Amino acid sequence: MKQRIIKISKLIFADARQAIVGAIVIGLVGGIGGLLYLSKTALDFSIAILNISTPLWAAISLAFLCSVYIYLKTLKKQSSSKNVLYTVKNLKWEVSINNDGNYHVSEIPYCLKHELKLILSTNYVAWNCPKLLECGTKIDNSNKYNLYQVALSHIEKAIRDKEIKC
Ligand SMILES: [Zn+2]
Repeated sequence: MKQRIIKISKLIFADARQAIVGAIVIGLVGGIGGLLYLSKTALDFSIAILNISTPLWAAISLAFLCSVYIYLKTLKKQSSSKNVLYTVKNLKWEVSINNDGNYHVSEIPYCLKHELKLILSTNYVAWNCPKLLECGTKIDNSNKYNLYQVALSHIEKAIRDKEIKC
């Protein structure tokens, strides 16, 4: 293979010296040559890093630590909200609460027994548990807003009393 490259190079370049240079150039373009070239570049880069002064090392380390700190802080912030089901009388209500104290209560309650979100009947009269046949949980649609207001009041107190925490 090497012989062939030199032979081809000889055809392209006039004398033997030029043929060797040509072979190196072809080798560099080829896979192995390219790999050797890359590892030499990596080696030069490593030597350059090792030769830099201590304050620069400190600066690089500090910048790295800062980025790790910011990353971890962002990660913690993102995972700081949680959802809980809070029971008020015979229904459960979904409360989403953040560590900054903000919270939201879903307007559709859950069945106490099955912890399933209630569904509106086809005639829009009542909200039922999806396990309709085996569960008696049912609220009138006209009564839903009032029940929600009552639940909000209880949940607000529970958060104030730290009964519900993030
Ligand atoms: Zn149910």
